Amino acid sequence: MSRIAYVNGRYVPHRDAAVHVEDRGYQFADGVYEVCEVRGGRLVDERRHMERLRRSLAELRIAEPMPLNALGVILRETVQRNRVRDGIVYLQATRGVAPRDHGFPPAGTRPSVVVTARNHDRARNEKTAAEGIPVITVPENRWPRVDIKSVSLLPNVLAKQAAREAGAKEAWFVDRDGTITEGASTNAWIVTSAGTVVTRPTTSAILRGITLTVLLDVLAAHGLKLEERPFTVEEAYAAREAFITSASQIVMPVVSIDGRPVANGAPGLLSAALRRDFHAHAEID
Ligand code: PLP
Repeated sequence: MSRIAYVNGRYVPHRDAAVHVEDRGYQFADGVYEVCEVRGGRLVDERRHMERLRRSLAELRIAEPMPLNALGVILRETVQRNRVRDGIVYLQATRGVAPRDHGFPPAGTRPSVVVTARNHDRARNEKTAAEGIPVITVPENRWPRVDIKSVSLLPNVLAKQAAREAGAKEAWFVDRDGTITEGASTNAWIVTSAGTVVTRPTTSAILRGITLTVLLDVLAAHGLKLEERPFTVEEAYAAREAFITSASQIVMPVVSIDGRPVANGAPGLLSAALRRDFHAHAEID
């Protein structure tokens, strides 16, 4: 089956899907994006993703390309046209097409919108989760507004590649004070030897993950002890469990950090339980 993409008002074959060379996303990474999980053909936490999109656009003073419920219709249509059951839908909105000039384009320039969707191999993801993943740490080198889900991801790209070259699956950024901020495309968590779940507070130093937000509800529902505070690399090395969260990976156990096994080097029981329980707390429609 051939894939379909939505590009600025049209559904086109994926292989022909293209934006203009002077799209500001292409020229300046002047745009934002969202990735929403699709499960059983339905969108997971669409409302929260749309709220975050609205916030990202507002922070960058990019006009909303259309009412957000109309965008929701396009997300669903793209999912259906690509027959996605379990996977992701990706949305990107940029400041539009205009002659290259760093300052904002003329008033009335229409934001560009692209939507794609694809299936994941759910069985393979579950196998990865059952085995857990290695992560490495890398120095934090991003701008101070990573709370905005901008398509400007070069440090994240380089960090992820460094992880791959080290035989790992994710890279955790480490601030100058030795605390972990987040992963290249995920939020970072540990469980201490006392059983407390720790994740960094959602300031402008990290992206407020939608998965993180929902997981806070899961933890509260189970009465689990949570501390939202920065944690150091040393604490992570000594943790009982570690895991990452994102819309595409849900809760993914971490079994080694910089080559050192986390606890006995097997996925933690709590991480696995949180992964199983996640969708009972997410909004799915
Ligand atoms: N942090 C970064 C840098 C990300 O890119 C992502 C997801 O892409 C996340 C965290 C997790 O966010 P979410 O749970 O909304 O997918």
